[in-house]
Amino acid sequence: MLRVLHILLWVAAIPFSFSACQGKNKTTINVTCAPRFEQRGDFVYLVIRDSIHSYEVGYSMPPRVVFLPVSLDTNRIYTFTISEKPLKGTKFKSSTVLRVQADEKVIYDEEICEVHHTRMQQKKVPILYGLLMRSPDEPPWEDEQKLFPHRNEVVSGGCCPLPEKTEIIYLCNQCKMAYEQWRKQHPSTRK
Ligand SMILES: [Zn+2]
Repeated sequence: MLRVLHILLWVAAIPFSFSACQGKNKTTINVTCAPRFEQRGDFVYLVIRDSIHSYEVGYSMPPRVVFLPVSLDTNRIYTFTISEKPLKGTKFKSSTVLRVQADEKVIYDEEICEVHHTRMQQKKVPILYGLLMRSPDEPPWEDEQKLFPHRNEVVSGGCCPLPEKTEIIYLCNQCKMAYEQWRKQHPSTRK
């Protein structure tokens, strides 16, 4: 069975790429505002808006899936650093939250693993399109998020194929090691 089929189902449905995009024509913008959340279908979007800019990024898919692992208070002011780049072959742009600061303290940084608190390495990985099913002998989703959220060397591009074939994402060595440990404790029943 192809290993690619084992990767995360949750990203398959996300309507735009949420992971770290580092490409040509990328711009970085700071927006200082109180966040807002909007539920649309299965997704909760984080709305980041000031008098000039307006961004909406996928925040979670309740009750189990969180795309942006940072708690935000809608009554509090944060500074969001957003990366924006054109989506190849479309008129759309993809927006990624790079950092979140509260009172000048960084509370989220996409380069830092939220589990291991280590700086991650970038790697170019393939984008897979279509509905990606999780193998039954892969870790439960909760374990994946709690123990090794940055180990997968593949990105889901959603159900509608785009010209983009690869993407640069952040990977955590400690997540990979934690997954290997989990794998040893839960031997695969498949060949
Ligand atoms: Zn990690």
